[in-house]
Amino acid sequence: MDLGIKGKRGLVCAASKGLGRACAEALAEAGVDLVINSRTEADITRTAAEIADKFGVQVIPVAADITTEEGRADVLKAVGQADILVNNAGGPPPGVWTDWSRDDFIKAIDANMLSAIALMQALVPGMMERGWGRVVNITSQSVRSPISVLGLSNTARTGLTGFVAGMSRQVAGKGVCVNNILPGIHATARADSLDQGVAEKTGISLDEARIKRQAGIPTGEYGQPEDFGATCAFLCSQHARFIIGQNILLDGGALNVSV
Ligand code: NAP
Repeated sequence: MDLGIKGKRGLVCAASKGLGRACAEALAEAGVDLVINSRTEADITRTAAEIADKFGVQVIPVAADITTEEGRADVLKAVGQADILVNNAGGPPPGVWTDWSRDDFIKAIDANMLSAIALMQALVPGMMERGWGRVVNITSQSVRSPISVLGLSNTARTGLTGFVAGMSRQVAGKGVCVNNILPGIHATARADSLDQGVAEKTGISLDEARIKRQAGIPTGEYGQPEDFGATCAFLCSQHARFIIGQNILLDGGALNVSV
């Protein structure tokens, strides 16, 4: 299927690896020129070169922390205007509800809620003026079914979800479609580190921890980042113009929710 977005300009945040990188690759495959970002300069530079080589599009790397105002300013300077925005950042650490201080909450809200809102506020007005835009926010399955040990994530991401529910309807009339994708467990470094945490806490091996988590997914395996990226590219395509303010759950059926 032709996604109809060849020649568009996109920003994908937190994209040197994992789900962000997969979104960048799928958009590049559809012919989108990109600015991609993450904190570690060597990684983001290498990823940009690999994607540009593979798909023949322009990919500009920006090494910056997207959760800071300075980082976002650097990224926005490199982008100028964008037709497509994919918001992403690292997830907050797990813990127990009594662990977290006000500063921990502010950090999580900055990372997983306010950064995405700030980038939408910076780039969506231009999309509205030009009459076309697509925004995808990477959130989490925890928005539908909060995960006890991820209280910081639950708090920040449900805040972003509430914001998007209103804002997406306010911009839809100008050709801008804003949606969220909710990853269940996907085979990325983040999943490895969560498995490692379970293994250490319960005294089982990494493989055992993985098998145990896979058993809770009806498909019997973790999601593949490539499939996630393809969903993101579809939501950024011409064909997604009637999809507004949705929370698309990609979890292999793990959450038993009917709507
Ligand atoms: P990942 O494999 O660990 O990759 C994270 C990417 O984000 C890396 O490129 C990392 O590069 C970059 N990054 C992290 N913090 C950043 C920051 N402050 N500024 C800019 N770039 C940053 O993670 P993932 O699995 O793709 O997860 C992506 C998001 O989905 C996370 O928020 C995660 O919590 C959420 N999620 C993932 C899963 C899953 O199973 N994978 C499930 C539910 C939710 P640098 O470290 O160099 O910056």
